[in-house]
Amino acid sequence: MSKEKIALFTIFGGTGDLAKRKLYPSLYRLYKKGFLAEKFAVIGTARREWTDEYYRDIVMDSINGLAESYEHAAEFASHFYYQSHNVTDIEHYSTLKKLTETLDEKYQLEGNRLFYLAMSPNFFGIISQNLKDGLLLTDSGFNRLIIEKPFGHNYSSALELNEQIRASFAEDQIYRIDHYLGKEMVQNISAVRFANNMFESMWNNRYIDNIQITLSESLGVEERGGYYDTSGALRDMLQNHILQMVSLLAMEPPTRLHDKEIRAEKIKALQAVRLFKPEDVPHYLVRGQYGRSTVNGEHFEGYREELNVAPDSQTETFVAGKIMIDNFRWSGVPFYFRTGKRLAEKGTQIDIEFKNVPLNLFNDNSDEPLPPNVLTIYIQPTEGFSLELNTKKVGLGLETETLKLEQKHSAETTANSPEAYEKLILDCLNGDSTNFTHWDEVASSWKFVDIIRQAWDNETIDFPNYPSGSMGPIESDLLLTKDGFQWHWCPTKE
Ligand code: NAP
Repeated sequence: MSKEKIALFTIFGGTGDLAKRKLYPSLYRLYKKGFLAEKFAVIGTARREWTDEYYRDIVMDSINGLAESYEHAAEFASHFYYQSHNVTDIEHYSTLKKLTETLDEKYQLEGNRLFYLAMSPNFFGIISQNLKDGLLLTDSGFNRLIIEKPFGHNYSSALELNEQIRASFAEDQIYRIDHYLGKEMVQNISAVRFANNMFESMWNNRYIDNIQITLSESLGVEERGGYYDTSGALRDMLQNHILQMVSLLAMEPPTRLHDKEIRAEKIKALQAVRLFKPEDVPHYLVRGQYGRSTVNGEHFEGYREELNVAPDSQTETFVAGKIMIDNFRWSGVPFYFRTGKRLAEKGTQIDIEFKNVPLNLFNDNSDEPLPPNVLTIYIQPTEGFSLELNTKKVGLGLETETLKLEQKHSAETTANSPEAYEKLILDCLNGDSTNFTHWDEVASSWKFVDIIRQAWDNETIDFPNYPSGSMGPIESDLLLTKDGFQWHWCPTKE
């Protein structure tokens, strides 16, 4: 059976950063692998007055370095068409409709339409409505809508946005991107759990002491200060990526590894996340903002000195917290997380700390417990696993040492593994929504985050409270030490 997918892509925001950096290279990778061949076309649309030729040059530029040959790249780019269009102007949708129908016929696209909204979420509602009112949705093929984050800035705005979109698209036609879900190792969480009885049989509160999720960035806000100052780490990272990882780690085994079954289990896990009372927030959450500092002779500005950031900004660039899941499997097991900018090292990893043996038989002279067994899932920049075990040191005594079994994919394998966007676009073409976020997941996540946001908004804090190049404020360490744990990953000590 041919693996070729047949579709017309209409990319709103076709002149933007996301389209150039991620979407065009991902489409080219799919073309190179034969998932896209003859029967596909792309309409790029935005307000700028570009010609098809200019647009194709931009597309060619964006795949520079990936292309097999100039001819191959040019052949790919010949499927791209540009339509200048202001999304708020209803008239323009009739021009778009004409082009859509022409390309549908020219490339025999069978009425399959994928609309990618690579632009500000303020426009998602109006575009969805105009696509329907302008009769751009087809009856003959599929209509699918891919939308970028952020999906609202709190529960009520997300609900309003969802209602606007749902007036034109059904839930199973909406693909809400969380690019973390396209990452190989995030998808691998299910394989670790459900393909290894050794882990799945221990995946509960009888054997796991705590789980730690770290998404750490070494860069600051760069040129995104204006956007970031209205968002902050809580909305930018916890509401989506972190809670998605929690749901994959915590969900019950689905009956099949199919989208509906997996989503149903993820939703149940998220609905079991304990909602804090506002007065509990300080006990479970820590926020931080980076200050200026000099690391290895290099000077870094503080967050408040960054471009387009208010000099008295109360926006958090770091958040750490403890999530509790109130169900039989996880009762009593803290899921700690931390994420922030200008931290010591860039990296995303999950550390699963298993409960210790009840007694240390190996060191009569010490009350020290043995180090716990830890399973680490490395997500980026390197992908892989490690498992820490205790073994006997070679020699006459009974001293132990930690053995780290580690498998990290080579730089070459990582470089050749599909890009998150490539996988997600292919999933969407296949109608597989496993790695996209369902509205019920979005709703549960916002309800959790809103309580924290409201509690924080009622109180000003003495920022900055962590230096650039550290792993966040000291309170993030205390969050664990007061429970008898510590962060397993400590780049500042390595
Ligand atoms: P961007 O570079 O600012 O692009 C915005 C696009 O929207 C441009 O093509 C712009 O083109 C178009 N546009 C703006 N107003 C318009 C209007 N009234 N009618 C028609 N087109 C209009 O933004 P981006 O970085 O690509 O981000 C796009 C979306 O992806 C956002 O939701 C963002 O949060 C999300 N996202 C981006 C990234 C990333 O790496 N960039 C990562 C994750 C999520 P004209 O000015 O020519 O109209």
